[in-house]
Amino acid sequence: MTTIKENLVEMRRRFHRFPEVGFTEFITTYEIYKVLKQMDYTLYLGDDVLLRSARVGVPGPEMFTKSAERAKQYGVPEEFLEQVKEGTTGVVATLDTGVPGPHFAARFDIDGLPITESTDENHVPAGEKFISLHEGEMHACGHDGHITTGLFLADYINANKASLKGRFTIIFQPAEESVRGAKSVVEKGWLDDVDYFFSGHLGIRNLPVGTVSAGTTDFLASSKFDVKFTGKSAHAGVEPDAGNNSLLAAAAAALNLNAIARHGDGSTRINVGTMRAGSGRNVIADFALMEIETRGETTELNHYMYEKAKTVIQAAADMYENDVEIIGMGEAPDAACSAELITAVKEAVKNNRLITDLKDTLPLGASEDVTMMMERVLEKNGKATYMLFPFELKYGHHHPKFDLDESVLHVAISAYIDIVNSLMKRD
Ligand SMILES: [Zn+2]
Ligand SMILES: [Zn+2]
Repeated sequence: MTTIKENLVEMRRRFHRFPEVGFTEFITTYEIYKVLKQMDYTLYLGDDVLLRSARVGVPGPEMFTKSAERAKQYGVPEEFLEQVKEGTTGVVATLDTGVPGPHFAARFDIDGLPITESTDENHVPAGEKFISLHEGEMHACGHDGHITTGLFLADYINANKASLKGRFTIIFQPAEESVRGAKSVVEKGWLDDVDYFFSGHLGIRNLPVGTVSAGTTDFLASSKFDVKFTGKSAHAGVEPDAGNNSLLAAAAAALNLNAIARHGDGSTRINVGTMRAGSGRNVIADFALMEIETRGETTELNHYMYEKAKTVIQAAADMYENDVEIIGMGEAPDAACSAELITAVKEAVKNNRLITDLKDTLPLGASEDVTMMMERVLEKNGKATYMLFPFELKYGHHHPKFDLDESVLHVAISAYIDIVNSLMKRD
């Protein structure tokens, strides 16, 4: 028997209202937990979900205090907040059918973005009154739809466990944006003995609903890092020579980072996204902060960009006699989906009437920290794939007017159910 009383659209709209950025998903984690609690899963929270020390890009304590306070006002019990405190968010749910069979794992990311949602009446969440209640935060990537798909999949597996075999692990992962959370879940060991691993994304490609790709290509490996230059301030009129200028060090770094020679083996990217320096017009700047990312078509190409970037940054610091610190904020390797699993997905969904255009693969052209999970599954001789469920994007991902075409939720959940029935049915 199913336990979820809402339909897909109602649930997605409910989660849409309280987006929380990575590692502050306190309300989201609580709501996911409440739904799963009605089923027969063993549930894991807090330090049982992730390895704290393997997290990167963790927000500061003020962010935790603010988000936890908000969660308390929302009605999340204090005992629950205690279990997920300091950004140990996310839930893992496991279920053993008791019948020998494969270990099936699926991962759904749950975080929102630091974007203020559009209040334009033509933007459906605003017009139909389920717009974000959190100023400055928004589900602008569709992870509200991912949570919903994950919970409905969990419900289906639970309701049908008497006819299924093997074991199931469903991971609701925090902090996917800026590729920060997956590593800490991998390091906790959740992917170590998985036979079939599935994940995916709604949207990404601007194609009609009903298009599904069984696998994905073109994951870009990426490194995200902050750079902190520390120089020496001095009076800009009286003795500028006594200062060590951090602003100029950062500026020299920014220009030369963009001048790194491109690698002949494939495509690479670099972006200096932010730069802040100095404290006043007549003061030699004694600090500069930069937020930077590199990407590459392969892990090796990204590594090339990252190593060159380090050389440039150190040289710029030396030139202006600054100290410099590079702080890792996120990373993802490249990944390749298992050909056997792509074939298995295609076989599983071949009679699905909601799927009108079934493709082997579509390109992602972005970075996703799920690749850390896929890498671990493949290392341990399991199989992994990442599916795409496109819809016609009126606005791109991470735009204040991004919105899901909610009919894609039906496509995604029906594909997952077909896959479970095809790979995990008792003989
Ligand atoms: Zn995103
Ligand atoms: Zn996303």
